Amino acid sequence: MSTPEPKVVISGRGEERVRSGHPWIYRTDVADVRAAGGDTVVVHNPRGRIVGRALFSDRSQIALRMLTVGEAPAGSELWRSRLAEAIAFRRSLGIDATACRLVHGEGDLLPSLVVDQYGDYLVLQTLSQGVDRLLPAIVAQLVEQVTPAGVLARNDVRVRQLEGLDSSVALLHGEVPPLVHVREGRIDHEVDLWHGQKTGLFLDQRENRVAARAYAHGRLLDCFSYHGAFALQLADCCESVVALDVSEDAVGHIRRNAERNGIGNVEARLANVFDALRQMERDRERFDTIVLDPPAFAKSRDAVEKAHAGYKEINLRAMKLLRPGGVLVTCTCSYHVDEAAFGQIVYEASIDARARMTVLEKRMQSRDHPVVLGVPETYYLKCFILRKLA
Ligand code: SAH
Repeated sequence: MSTPEPKVVISGRGEERVRSGHPWIYRTDVADVRAAGGDTVVVHNPRGRIVGRALFSDRSQIALRMLTVGEAPAGSELWRSRLAEAIAFRRSLGIDATACRLVHGEGDLLPSLVVDQYGDYLVLQTLSQGVDRLLPAIVAQLVEQVTPAGVLARNDVRVRQLEGLDSSVALLHGEVPPLVHVREGRIDHEVDLWHGQKTGLFLDQRENRVAARAYAHGRLLDCFSYHGAFALQLADCCESVVALDVSEDAVGHIRRNAERNGIGNVEARLANVFDALRQMERDRERFDTIVLDPPAFAKSRDAVEKAHAGYKEINLRAMKLLRPGGVLVTCTCSYHVDEAAFGQIVYEASIDARARMTVLEKRMQSRDHPVVLGVPETYYLKCFILRKLA
């Protein structure tokens, strides 16, 4: 006798959410559980009809992550074909880089799975109990479909705690050297996949860095530079570049990256951006292009008010430091600060800075990090390119 498929019954409200296209069902909309954490379950509505299949978590507020809607099964063939689809889509984008995101979780109907490619290597993150349990099968599929030289799990991310999962970095296949080289446009990046932020680089900004090339000029200030990806990408459009980061390790990377790429006009400085902008304002320094790419100031809903003040402050100071005709590339990667809220923040900053700003482009994360309509959680990175009139 075969064992019955694990099952979860959801409320009418939960079912409504699925019908509206959202892949997450919260714990408060779960009525009955006949499953263990990490199971792939069949989801029933209160009348016993099948809603679909989902990954179940017994710890997270997000109890269910829908895989299919209706009667379709959610076995290994589903994972194989969705991985293939996600990878084929990236190959179709004509990405001018050897690093990109191959799988972006919900944006590829592969909830809570992240896979990034860095040349011959893959780095992945399994961010729910369900996908964590499927890890061996997922790695086998990726090895078959991409034939990487190595696969690394960067599961040292805080969100895993919400799922009751441990923090670990593990080699899952082949070999991954301490440093790998990838190309983004004409820039060669040396990346530490084992310890770097995110999975090594901020791949979500790749297209925004290229877009900014159309406007960057004169004297550039790159704030929150990390390994200098914006600074290096824009250096040949500008006379001189100052790159700021508070991390000594990051500043070292910027210098080495500049040297290796033969870029002589980038000066990397160890600095807290908040202090540096204030000091530059006192010193009456002026720039023609400024990039603001801070870390997420609002990591939770409670932190939004403080984050608002932080974003406003750096934008206000940057607008003051800009010459007329100057360009501001300003970003937020806080999901909790949506596009409208961010627009309001930069508007308020412009009023306080007495700067009249026009909008050149409103951008978002690169296309290999797809945003799903109706799923605001997938739209986290906002990037506005503004121009100062006077
Ligand atoms: N612009 C980068 C990514 C930036 S990530 C890119 O395109 O790759 C954010 C960076 O901000 C991190 O490197 C972090 O060290 C730095 N940082 C955080 N708070 C800071 C502060 N107050 N002043 C300067 N740098 C800061």
